[in-house]
Amino acid sequence: MQRMIIGAFLAVLCLPFSAQAFTLEGHLVQGGMAIGKVEPATTVFFHGKAVRVSPEGLFVIGFSRDAEPEAVIELRLPSGTVEKHPVRIEKRSYKIQRIDGLPPRKVSPSAEDLKRIRKDIALVKAVRKKDDPRTDFLQPFIWPVSGRISGVYGSQRILNGKPKRPHYGVDIAAPTGTPVKAPADGVVSLAHDDMFYSGGTLIVDHGHGLSTVFMHLHKILVEEGQRVRQGDVIAQVGATGRVTGPHLHWGMNWFETRLDPSLLVPPIPEATAAAQ
Ligand SMILES: [Zn+2]
Repeated sequence: MQRMIIGAFLAVLCLPFSAQAFTLEGHLVQGGMAIGKVEPATTVFFHGKAVRVSPEGLFVIGFSRDAEPEAVIELRLPSGTVEKHPVRIEKRSYKIQRIDGLPPRKVSPSAEDLKRIRKDIALVKAVRKKDDPRTDFLQPFIWPVSGRISGVYGSQRILNGKPKRPHYGVDIAAPTGTPVKAPADGVVSLAHDDMFYSGGTLIVDHGHGLSTVFMHLHKILVEEGQRVRQGDVIAQVGATGRVTGPHLHWGMNWFETRLDPSLLVPPIPEATAAAQ
């Protein structure tokens, strides 16, 4: 009897607290991003790695294209208590995309090209290691351009008949010169005029390892280290790198994990694009 009373008392006292102490909101789906909240000074582990937690107790995690359906977020509370919170990640099915008629050089690069490609990869990799304390990723994202979606996240590409790595971003068809807007506040972490595959390439860091990348740009209008605000014109759409026509490739990363930016924005305003 006494135990029952104590049990009821604890439930009333503790439940509202524990319900508030850990929340996770966002897209619990392959390619998705979620924002968590914990008691400040809690250490958060995801896939065995400590994740940056803001002074307010906010953190971000991302799920890869082929993420396993079950993951665990481990919390080490300031009191020393360890909590394990299971996360269920929804599975997606991906499109097969065939692109023919590409110049052979862009499909099977030469030894010389490979040198350049490795250099490009190293640059991008270094930039994506950044773990800035800013929490710009909390802002609701906007589309960087409007137009017709010509490629979606996760699709498997078959270029000139050869299966390639999946497409990690969303392609928006738009004429060369169309202004590209910053989808959220951030700091420019990479501005490169001519990468082998991605041509004019721009990366904006939104904090805590969350970044967005813009590829095939005609012109880049910002510099590395520059603070940008949501809606600022940062570049122009182009057809540089390995492309068949002018479009913006928009990608999103949580460190090395490639996410689907289209999950974070409302349906694309196609009509606006036609009016521009
Ligand atoms: Zn693309």
